[in-house]
Amino acid sequence: RAIVRDLTGVAEQNPVLPPGRMPIQEVDPTVFDTRFLRKIDNLGEGHFGKVELCQYDPHGDGRGELVAVKSLKPNSKGQLPCHLRREIDTMRELYHHNIVKYKGVCSEEGGRTTKLIMEYLPAGSLKDYLPKRKHQTDLKRLLNYALQICQGMDYLGSQRFIHRDLAARNVLVENESTVKIADFGLTKSMKEDKSYYTVKEDTESPVFWYAPECLVGSKFYPASDVWSFGVTLYELMTYCESSSSPEPVFLKLLSPSEGKMTLTRLVEFLIDGKRLPCPPRCPDTVRELREVVRCWAIKVNVYGSHSLL
Ligand code: ADP
Ligand code: MG
Repeated sequence: RAIVRDLTGVAEQNPVLPPGRMPIQEVDPTVFDTRFLRKIDNLGEGHFGKVELCQYDPHGDGRGELVAVKSLKPNSKGQLPCHLRREIDTMRELYHHNIVKYKGVCSEEGGRTTKLIMEYLPAGSLKDYLPKRKHQTDLKRLLNYALQICQGMDYLGSQRFIHRDLAARNVLVENESTVKIADFGLTKSMKEDKSYYTVKEDTESPVFWYAPECLVGSKFYPASDVWSFGVTLYELMTYCESSSSPEPVFLKLLSPSEGKMTLTRLVEFLIDGKRLPCPPRCPDTVRELREVVRCWAIKVNVYGSHSLL
């Protein structure tokens, strides 16, 4: 009788299900099971992270979707896991046609490490793509890429984020007519009452893409991203050829002087009003746009950071 009573209780607490049907479990589509993630190739790596092409194949029939999976490089040390965590938190808030889509996360080692799962863009970054496609890519197309980068950045700014690593290596190509901004590893969120973000941690920075106020005062304004956009536009106009990329060109332009670090020389160079050279065949209208971009960043600097000018 006790068994009958217990069973009746259980039956009362559970909804009636048609015979043969199991309750549908709530599945979170943004949680990927590491068992079904199979590595196919390496896609690239930067300072902290590496990105791999994987197939997510829960049915084991080889028809699962291709995804890009970002994890920390094995030799990354210290507080770095929180970098990826922050990148995940940023990406999951962003929805825009020109921003790489977040798909979810995958936990490993009992939740001690987390990987970021995003959409896979087969053509890779502009830095990989453009040098190979130089002859098929005319000025109109380059400017259209620039416009799409602006649209993605405009959206990012409207969400009060500062990217801090806008560069051709971090713009991915979906197809020949669409590009998307990626790599939110250095992205910061501005507090409601602030118009800039002060960086405290000392990590390696993409200094040749940075405006003076970032190099000198570690202050990042939305307009500091505009400066990096100017450098990215320079990369676009040079078809991302490595010989004309900002780093070697700046290094050649910075006059070597005994005992001075590259960063000090770069800051002096920029404060002197000197800039990257105008790329060959770059039309005046684009060159003037680069001028606007420069003035803009400097102006913010005057009002926002008196220490510099
Ligand atoms: P890091 O923070 O280490 O710089 P990124 O997110 O910039 O990492 O990725 C490194 C490289 O991997 C990129 O420059 C690009 O070539 C490639 N990559 C990154 N994400 C994707 C993706 N979703 N699809 C295709 N390639 C990607
Ligand atoms: Mg990167």
